[in-house]
Amino acid sequence: MKQINEEDEVKIEATSLSFGHSCFKKDWVLQSYPQEHIQCYTCLVCKQIANNPMEIGCPQHESMNGTLIGENCLKLFLKNHNNSCPVQPHDNCQYSRSNFARGRIGDLIVMCIRQFEQELKTSNKTKGEEKMPRVIKCAFKGKLKDLNTHLMNKCPFNLISCWFKPFGCNHECFSYNLHDHLIANMKLHFDLVTQLFQSMQQEIQLKDSRIKQMERDYQQKLLKYHRDIKIKKDFNNNNNLSNHEKIIKSLKEKNTKLTQSIQKLKYQYKEEINRSSTLSSAFNFDLFHSSSKLLKTFTGHIKWVSSIDYSTFDDRQFICSGSEDETVRVWDVDNSKQIQSFNKHSDEVYCVKFSPYHYYNYCKNVICSSSEDSTIRFWDFKNNEQLQIFEGHTHGVCGIQYSFFSAGRYLCSGSGDKTIRLWDVETSKSLHVFNGHTNT
Ligand SMILES: [Zn+2]
Ligand SMILES: [Zn+2]
Ligand SMILES: [Zn+2]
Ligand SMILES: [Zn+2]
Repeated sequence: MKQINEEDEVKIEATSLSFGHSCFKKDWVLQSYPQEHIQCYTCLVCKQIANNPMEIGCPQHESMNGTLIGENCLKLFLKNHNNSCPVQPHDNCQYSRSNFARGRIGDLIVMCIRQFEQELKTSNKTKGEEKMPRVIKCAFKGKLKDLNTHLMNKCPFNLISCWFKPFGCNHECFSYNLHDHLIANMKLHFDLVTQLFQSMQQEIQLKDSRIKQMERDYQQKLLKYHRDIKIKKDFNNNNNLSNHEKIIKSLKEKNTKLTQSIQKLKYQYKEEINRSSTLSSAFNFDLFHSSSKLLKTFTGHIKWVSSIDYSTFDDRQFICSGSEDETVRVWDVDNSKQIQSFNKHSDEVYCVKFSPYHYYNYCKNVICSSSEDSTIRFWDFKNNEQLQIFEGHTHGVCGIQYSFFSAGRYLCSGSGDKTIRLWDVETSKSLHVFNGHTNT
């Protein structure tokens, strides 16, 4: 027990040794040199060997020898004595770095300062005791300027950590003693390594199980996404299918309705034709004469009127008229007003007809007119725009007639050029020219 205590104390002493800015102990340097050899390096203030020596150069004591002072001692003295010179009290002390003395002091051969301190201590302690405690020895002997490097690296008084520090052993000792520590604590170190190994193994197992759990979670999520995607896909397909079916159904319904209304219109048209032909065949002139009277007069044309036609659109009655004054006019029968006038013909207008073709196929209110200018023109009087023009006759076109079949798709025209022409209103093409007439 005594030995351990002794070692501990030496250890504490060694760590507290500092090799800083203070001057060097004279007794220590005296281990290697006689007094007279080092007398000239003595610090003026502390009487030890000057560390980083400065030289006093005041003119007041120019002739004086031995004015070296350690840099640290000089600073402290000036600070504590209000900048008064350390040689003799006066202001404006002058000093400079002594490179020569620095070189000489640095080259002094010394023993390890820690070894010196320990020897000093043990010689004091063991004075009178028989048994010497076990101590470390540093055999360093070298230049003073190299001592710092020695203390920081190779000096056995340096404290080093146990090799098993990473495993948890916090023991520190002189490098000299580390071997003993390792031998004495083999079991402890082995246990520390085993413990760390086991705890690492546990950690690995824990992480392993976490990774497996994450994998399972991931798989489940993936499955769920797959299911969701499938459901969504099915839903979309069903939706698309039902949408398409709906559209097809509604289109079919519309188609049926349209076919029905076309049939109805065709039937009505036929009925009208039949009725008018019946009427004309059973026309009773006397009856007509006895009940007839002038209902309305439409004025506007400025030359004789060559042709008129009558029709109803949207429950309103209209009359159109063509005249030698080269115009075609439309009249609203119900309120006796001219509502449009068309003046694109360049000569007198011979014949006008409301176009059943445009009405039944496009719901358009169109008038077809023929003229001395050799043309047949189509005119949308509701929007007041001219549609197609049939040109082919070489003289005036006196009469035009729509076909009673195909909802008025075909038009025939008679002309002063002694021909009759058949036109397809839908394609605006001349289908046939009937030659045979020998006069107008
Ligand atoms: Zn000093
Ligand atoms: Zn001075
Ligand atoms: Zn040493
Ligand atoms: Zn250890």
